[in-house]
Amino acid sequence: MGMVMIKCPETGRAISTGIEMDRERFRCSTVFFSRTYCGMCAATHEWFAREAWVYESVLANGKAGGGQPFRTGAA
Ligand SMILES: [Zn+2]
Repeated sequence: MGMVMIKCPETGRAISTGIEMDRERFRCSTVFFSRTYCGMCAATHEWFAREAWVYESVLANGKAGGGQPFRTGAA
């Protein structure tokens, strides 16, 4: 599971929507619309799924590995 994130249109910072969804499921649900309260703006932002992404926490489980940065050039 990951957390659906959006970019705050006012500050440009990533904020959590509070919606948990796994990445595959999120990719399948391309057209949904939601609103998220932004603590930085003290306002509610409206957003579409196409503007959002899923942040998968490294704490989720040990076998994930999907979000690992690709390392070029072995040490
Ligand atoms: Zn905001």
